[in-house]
Amino acid sequence: MIYRNTWAEINLAAIGHNIRQLKETLPEGHQVMTVVKANGYGHGSVQVAKAALDEGINFLMVAMLEEAIELRNAGIRTPTLVIGRVPPIHARVAAKHDITLTVFDLAWLQEISEEVFEYPLSIHLEFETGMNRTGISTERQLREIVATIEKLDHIHLTGAYMHFATADEINTVQYEQQKEQYEMMLGALSKLYPHPLITHIGNSAAGIQYPKEMLQYTRFGVATYGLYPSKDIKELDTVDLQQAFSLYSELIQVKKIAAGECVSYGATYCATEDEWIGTIPIGYGDGWSRKLQGFHVLIDGKKMPIVGRICMDVMMVKLDRAYEVGQLVTLIGKDGDAMIGMSDVANHLETINYEIPCMLTKRIPRTYL
Ligand SMILES: *Cc1c(COP(=O)(O)O)cnc(C)c1O
Repeated sequence: MIYRNTWAEINLAAIGHNIRQLKETLPEGHQVMTVVKANGYGHGSVQVAKAALDEGINFLMVAMLEEAIELRNAGIRTPTLVIGRVPPIHARVAAKHDITLTVFDLAWLQEISEEVFEYPLSIHLEFETGMNRTGISTERQLREIVATIEKLDHIHLTGAYMHFATADEINTVQYEQQKEQYEMMLGALSKLYPHPLITHIGNSAAGIQYPKEMLQYTRFGVATYGLYPSKDIKELDTVDLQQAFSLYSELIQVKKIAAGECVSYGATYCATEDEWIGTIPIGYGDGWSRKLQGFHVLIDGKKMPIVGRICMDVMMVKLDRAYEVGQLVTLIGKDGDAMIGMSDVANHLETINYEIPCMLTKRIPRTYL
């Protein structure tokens, strides 16, 4: 049951549209891996995964074992890759749920060798090529890892991948260097382990900028949700993405204040003339940052500035006239011809659009269209 009058609306048709847009630019036969980590970038991982499966995608990616198990518990049996390092003692849980894990160090395999598995475990190797986050750096490490895998009957090596650091910028030298490094490591792997493997290198930015250079799969995250990975990528204008996430609320009180009266904690905003103030039930307790003071919402297709400090549960806006209690307020999304994009909120907070739906807490119910 939803009792509160602030809610997010996720347009699953937009998710479908975005996946079709992305597929159109990719070569025939290329596959899409849909990234639903962090609860589907705050959109709801199970619902997004199901919408993506309806578009024919056949691989899912998450960051943690918990996130993969959540998909399994919802009845989703599609191959699922975890990119984080799952502690070796929990690898058997992944095997039981047929979840693919990432391996990038020998110590992990050595620890696993002590474990008794009821089911085989599928793994992908991650190569370090310039991100310096996680990955196998050298051919020597690779040789030791492959030799160890071959001794472990219950471990099946099924894939290899890497991650770009600068694919959201246009034509960088680092992109080329990382790709070259990957090809070298993949070449070494194919000699050590001459079996078919799934290989994937691209995120949304790489997949949009270099669709012809992606290997079998592209790991599309942010673009699935209708968000561009950067301004540069948006300006390429090769895909038309639709933002799937909207955030709505309603006015819960409307009042007239007189010149000299102030609003909220610290009295940081004071009226210079008589004006209308509306109260909206969302605050930093919902992940709606206090730093959004000075940003705006949409009412009746018009921008209304957020005035005074944002409280834990509510905030106030300056209205252009009296509105009824219950008046719809758009915090993210379209209202008539006006639109607040995820990037508008992100720009105000000096961050990236990725962070905005992730920072809105579970306190905000997600509804689906
Ligand atoms: C998060 C992540 C992705 C998805 O990135 P987007 O920019 O959201 O498309 C792909 N691959 C890895 C390894 C990731 O961590």
